[in-house]
Amino acid sequence: MVCLTQLFMATRYTYIFYLATMRSFEDSYQYRGLRKKLIDKIREKGITDEKVLEAMMNIPRHFFLDTALDKIAYEDRAFPIAEGQTISQPYTVAYQTQLLRIKQYDKILEIGTGSAYQASVLAEMGANVLTIERQKNLFEKNKNFILKNKYPQIKFFYGDGFEGLPTYAPFDKILITAAAPFIPPKLIEQLKHGGTMVLPLDKNNSQRMIRIIKNETGTFEEESFENFSFVPMLKGKN
Ligand code: SAH
Repeated sequence: MVCLTQLFMATRYTYIFYLATMRSFEDSYQYRGLRKKLIDKIREKGITDEKVLEAMMNIPRHFFLDTALDKIAYEDRAFPIAEGQTISQPYTVAYQTQLLRIKQYDKILEIGTGSAYQASVLAEMGANVLTIERQKNLFEKNKNFILKNKYPQIKFFYGDGFEGLPTYAPFDKILITAAAPFIPPKLIEQLKHGGTMVLPLDKNNSQRMIRIIKNETGTFEEESFENFSFVPMLKGKN
């Protein structure tokens, strides 16, 4: 009898838990409306690559945040995720993605998985994404990544982004989503000839967005864009 009661209670709590998690992973008319407004705002701010905007329109950003933030998930703001880290501001995600000039089947290395929102935008655009996170808890969280069936071409790695992934190199594109104190030499090595790397480079507390193109001959072109504010790119694993 006790066993039956326990079983009943356990089933009930599992069901309640199931409902609670289900709720947060529901997209709706209302969320799509808010998302459309956000995309219009980002376009007004100067993002012109319609493929980037379309990809962001297709991804429910609230899936990547705590349910408490559901209602404000479509504000153009960065939000806290676990471990004192952040999901980047949508404008910043769009800006970095646009600079990368994504093509279908591009092989992309991302440094700083965080919530996996940026990785999903790249995957939605048809890229193959290898993404590294140095925070164990964030890496572990992404083992249950909600869109893993939709984006099987995202591969998650636990490690130090300064090292890159030498066994998978070279990459068509490399994207750093944390403030880099310098241009990591190992990442430059792992970039294909003809490849592009985008990173926020730390310059006295704000970061300058930089795009580096490694020419076919092995020479480099460096372009400098707007200033942004990112969490720091740190050495080692945690
Ligand atoms: N791209 C993320 C943004 C995350 S914020 C998103 O879409 O949500 C930056 C992330 O970079 C943090 O999760 C932080 O832990 C991670 N990070 C910082 N230094 C790193 C390093 N050396 N290697 C890998 N990840 C790093």
